[in-house]
Amino acid sequence: MSRIIAAAAIRGAHSLAKQAEDMLEKAVKEHGEDHAVEFPNTGYFIPIIYAMMGHEVKTLADFRPVMEEIQSLLPPLVDDKLWLPYLGPALDAGMATLYAEEIIEACKYLIGPNPVSGIWLGAADDMILRERGIQFVDGTAPGFAAIAGAAPDVETAVEIARKCQERSLYVFMCSEDHGTSFSQQLEEAGVQMGWETRLVPFGPDITAAIYALGFATRVALSFGGVQPGDFRRNLLYNKARVFAFVMALGKVTDEWYATAAGAINFGFPTIADSDIPEILPTGVCTYEHVVSNVPHSEIVEKAIEVRGLKIKVAEVPVPVAFSPAFEGERIRKEEMQVEFGGNRTPAFEWLTTLPMDQVEDGKVEVIGPEADSVEEGGQMPLGIVIEVAGRKMQPDFEPVLERHTHTFLNHPQGLWHMGQRDINWVRISKDAFKAGLRIEHIGKILHAMLHEVFSVIVDKVQVKLYTEEEKVIEMHEKARQVFVERDARLADMTDESVDVFYSCTLCQSFAPNHVCIITPQHPGLCGAYNWLDGRAAYEINPAGPNQPVPKGAAVDETLGQWEKINQFIVEKSQGTIERMSAYSMITDPMTSCGCFECISAVLPSTNGIMIVPREYAEMTPCGMKFSTAAGTVGGGRQTPGFSGHSRQYIVSPKFILADGGFKRIVWMPKMLKEALHDVLVARADELGLGGEEFLNRIADESVAATEEEALEHITKAEHPALTMDPMF
Ligand code: SF4
Repeated sequence: MSRIIAAAAIRGAHSLAKQAEDMLEKAVKEHGEDHAVEFPNTGYFIPIIYAMMGHEVKTLADFRPVMEEIQSLLPPLVDDKLWLPYLGPALDAGMATLYAEEIIEACKYLIGPNPVSGIWLGAADDMILRERGIQFVDGTAPGFAAIAGAAPDVETAVEIARKCQERSLYVFMCSEDHGTSFSQQLEEAGVQMGWETRLVPFGPDITAAIYALGFATRVALSFGGVQPGDFRRNLLYNKARVFAFVMALGKVTDEWYATAAGAINFGFPTIADSDIPEILPTGVCTYEHVVSNVPHSEIVEKAIEVRGLKIKVAEVPVPVAFSPAFEGERIRKEEMQVEFGGNRTPAFEWLTTLPMDQVEDGKVEVIGPEADSVEEGGQMPLGIVIEVAGRKMQPDFEPVLERHTHTFLNHPQGLWHMGQRDINWVRISKDAFKAGLRIEHIGKILHAMLHEVFSVIVDKVQVKLYTEEEKVIEMHEKARQVFVERDARLADMTDESVDVFYSCTLCQSFAPNHVCIITPQHPGLCGAYNWLDGRAAYEINPAGPNQPVPKGAAVDETLGQWEKINQFIVEKSQGTIERMSAYSMITDPMTSCGCFECISAVLPSTNGIMIVPREYAEMTPCGMKFSTAAGTVGGGRQTPGFSGHSRQYIVSPKFILADGGFKRIVWMPKMLKEALHDVLVARADELGLGGEEFLNRIADESVAATEEEALEHITKAEHPALTMDPMF
């Protein structure tokens, strides 16, 4: 621990102990030893003393043993020459300080100045504790900021207070700096204070900090079932459950240091705007203990980060109704104000992790024109780049969080989202546009919901929304490289090498009976979730839509059917699906939702299959465009002869294994051949089909628009499918 801080804290503790002694003597002199002493309307006596020592203070005489305890805790003042480990003594000094400050504040109720006067509220009674304390337990209030001192000016004070309020934090205020206090600054600005607004002015002295710490102590006693005297559990409860921190604004005096040392015992760190020494290593607090020199514009965010506080944004700031109830809502073309992606314009969505100092929580930028720039029914490019930071964030979690864009953007009434990665499609309805919904709100929704759902791992979220075509294309290339890297992570895993697969039921919002079974060699149909992502998603949210499903005994290895997987499918499809083959599009195929990247369809006369990706808008040899085929196969149905799947699955050794596999592909559009060129050639080589040569044997739209023409092409090209066993 910093010697300078320890020395100051210990000096401050000695000073406060002396003040407590003097106040106590004065109170005894005026009222006598047996005079009752209390904080009003509480059953917790003098709460920190009661909670830590198990000692019930009812009269002034009861403070005597507390004064002895203070003396025993007080370390000697730090020697100028001798260097020692200082953490333990400084923490003891901190605890002695809190006892001394309780004595001082309690005595003020008897001999003045009355802690309740003007804007100052003094101790919270038990009614307030019951009403407000529960919020720290049920998560309605993520924590509190104990602010000591004053901001440099009124505007800064208001800004800090508002930022805390927006994050549902309580602000407990005490002490002064440069002749004013944070509370007085808020009063000057006409800001409403009190328990209702979560801006609580406790008192003008640093000793009033004990009302905040006493409140936390009582939360542990009242809601945590901690027994009086069990100081260790009380402190640990606070460290784990009450996310509080001290914000020191202004000159940090010895007495402030001493109080901050007391707060560190609770795991509450100090964040200061002034240039004081820092204590950065973790230990008693979750992360750093003292962080200094933080600019006012960043101080709330920094405090949240250092305390490891998990913020939930109370309300999603959109001008339309917001509820999961709107998830199934469709926006037809005639109801649409503007759309993005869906093969009409360049679009993508990508979530990435950045270092903590490169993310400004809540920052949303529309880089390019807003939705007002196009006529009703218009189209715009859209690149959604979500940048997150978090102490517990891992790159493995990125796809999981990113995939939730789909769910989050379907919650507002009049906003519709489909697809993922770079095959996404977003629409804003005319009604929602009239109500004020704009591109900017996409960022606000993502910010709020990522905090709401992933608060355990996400500390900060900022969103960039690109709407200029050139920039969207440039950023898309960056994102695309990451998508390729993500897909490559699974290269060496096989379905046989694991005992557990992962389910995904995220798409049940659109297709209520659909269940994706994600295996190492069969990613989710949308292509956004592979087996590792399923595992990461389960780690993040064990009760979420991705559950581990043990395979159990094999029913048929070639079809890809296992006992326990089938049982799971029955249960999760509400009894509508009895069996599922992971490797067949003919026998009990996997259900298709609507988010699949590609559709495979049997072309009976060719003894093979065609594959059409979502981006291909023309007619295909099966007699349907992608959109019509998607309507036929999607919605959570099993449709033998058709299958929705990811692009990556095409080159998997398990690709329709039971139906003849990769060799069955007789038609795919050029765009898919080009996009997957290298992996298709590699897979064909692997199977001894002659790489590029096999690719040329596969028909595309340049040679075949119909099934007959496809047959003609593959016959000429001597495609191996023609000599395979019949598919049915
Ligand atoms: S397609 Fe499958 S893996 Fe992708 S989100 Fe939907 S249910 Fe999950």
